[in-house]
Amino acid sequence: MFDVVVIGAGHAGCEAATAAARLGARVGLLTFDPGNLGQMSCNPSIGGVGKGHLVRELDVFDGLMARAADRAAIHRRMLNRSKGPAVWGPRVQADRRIYRAAVASLVASSGVEVLAGEAHGLLLKSGAVNGVSSSNGTVECRSAVIATGTFLDARMFVGERVMEGGRRGEQASNVLAGQIREIGLGQGRLKTGTPPRLDGRTIDWSRLEEQPSDRDPWTMSAMANGIGQPQLRCAKTRTNERTHEIIAANFNRSPLFAGSIEGRGPRYCPSIEDKVRRFADRDAHQIFLEPEGLDDHLVYPNGISTSLPEDVQAEFLRSIAGLERVKIARPGYAVEYEFVDPRRLKATLGVADITGLFLAGQINGTTGYEEAAAQGLVAGLNAAAHALALEEVRFDRRSSYIGVMIDDLTLQGVSEPYRMMTARAEHRLSLRADNATTRLGEAALATACVSDERSAQILGHFDQRGGIGWADTPEGSADLLYTPYVARQEREWEVVQRDSNVWIPSSFHFGDVPGLSTEMVERLSAAAPETLDQASRIAGITPAALSAVYVAIRRQAA
Ligand SMILES: Cc1cc2nc3c(=O)[nH]c(=O)nc-3n(C[C@H](O)[C@H](O)[C@H](O)COP(=O)(O)OP(=O)(O)OC[C@H]3O[C@@H](n4cnc5c(N)ncnc54)[C@H](O)[C@@H]3O)c2cc1C
Repeated sequence: MFDVVVIGAGHAGCEAATAAARLGARVGLLTFDPGNLGQMSCNPSIGGVGKGHLVRELDVFDGLMARAADRAAIHRRMLNRSKGPAVWGPRVQADRRIYRAAVASLVASSGVEVLAGEAHGLLLKSGAVNGVSSSNGTVECRSAVIATGTFLDARMFVGERVMEGGRRGEQASNVLAGQIREIGLGQGRLKTGTPPRLDGRTIDWSRLEEQPSDRDPWTMSAMANGIGQPQLRCAKTRTNERTHEIIAANFNRSPLFAGSIEGRGPRYCPSIEDKVRRFADRDAHQIFLEPEGLDDHLVYPNGISTSLPEDVQAEFLRSIAGLERVKIARPGYAVEYEFVDPRRLKATLGVADITGLFLAGQINGTTGYEEAAAQGLVAGLNAAAHALALEEVRFDRRSSYIGVMIDDLTLQGVSEPYRMMTARAEHRLSLRADNATTRLGEAALATACVSDERSAQILGHFDQRGGIGWADTPEGSADLLYTPYVARQEREWEVVQRDSNVWIPSSFHFGDVPGLSTEMVERLSAAAPETLDQASRIAGITPAALSAVYVAIRRQAA
């Protein structure tokens, strides 16, 4: 009998399984193809603004993602450097194969047993999980984590072509999807997409602006031993009026506009056809050309995900500078899948009314590897805690982006794929990517899910803080920089909580509030609340949004 069985070995599943194993659980990781552990369905890049914060937090708990990203990094860039360090976003472009191998080796050394097969369903007895049935038989367990990503009842689209499958070349998970609907967990459909992969040998790099890797040797993990791989260059190009004309002329062949795709896509990562339609006044969109590996000629054109027909993809690509003779190695496509309403979950990511069942990753309505991996940590620790009768592990939104995400998901739910952004955190001046160990080190030690080396690193970090030379470290100097602002932010937040009857003037424009996401602007503008208290009761309005609105009202009144 396993203590925990995890279904799906993507980013959420691998983190969940290894986190549970670090707590001492006997863990089975059941997945379609054990050769595909940690496969990156889309761009092989890890981190970014908000997402990099999640990876650093996960690292404090000995998660896999930061260490695998460091081993595989072929290009590193600290995003948002022109702004304050609170919103800097460490991001690496990874060699796809090295990343997968790194995850596989970390899983192998964790003691997790990898099981091949398709999960067909949960075995439930008196409202509690006691096993998982699969194409290879049945396994008994005390807890189960479902981390099936974009695979539940999934369909892929390239123009008029529709195929069953959870990701290119991989089958969908239909039987399990049936049970999930039967037990009332199915919520609806979402979609995401990926751009065509290009043959880098057919790109005219000489015409393009280069983007070198950062020179300073920062790493994702606090445990990294320098930079392992040679660092490559990325490049930039742009769409133009001709590109947009080609795309617009083929709107009628897009599954997105022809009505074949029902699910909502990620607002902050729209397809190129969506951008051309929604931002008709823009005459260009930036594209980053990012290599997929050291010994790989595939290039990922970041910014033009599409599900237009293949011939249209080829035509619009060749209208772009540097891509005039480009060959498509694989066409872009969209995938539509079933997800679960995360409001059915507790802060442990346990399903409220099914004992021993936990959900993590894209199944909960999120998008992105980092969001999935961070949920995997939470679900894995709590699945093990349930099986071994240990204390539950919860994250607070005051001290972590992980806490912000779980709180937003479980209280507000989602109407479109949820992606982490710094604007989602009302305490973002204190939640920096550089101070994850300071914020979460104690919790990681208390959870007892970290190695001896990590414990020593955390304790060493605490010793160093406040010592001689601390003010010259990146974290120490950021602490100094933010001290007065953090104090003010705390005071403002206290007022928001205490005095929710603050009036919102009728002349107030939510679109002018700095730091408010477009999603929040839309929700607030549609409901037009008259007080902060009313705003707080609009579905989906986060504490971060309330705080930003409060600050803007005070500034307007001053
Ligand atoms: C085409 C495409 C485009 C994407 N574009 C973006 C993007 O632009 N930006 C972004 O942030 N994210 C994007 N994503 C999303 C990103 O890939 C996911 O957010 C992330 O991989 C989710 O991680 P996960 O662990 O939840 O699921 P996944 O990584 O999808 O892993 C799920 C795992 O479960 C296994 N599995 C599924 N069902 C079963 C079953 N019944 N039995 C056994 N095993 C099963 C699968 O084999 C897989 O290993 C894209 C995904 C796809 C497919």
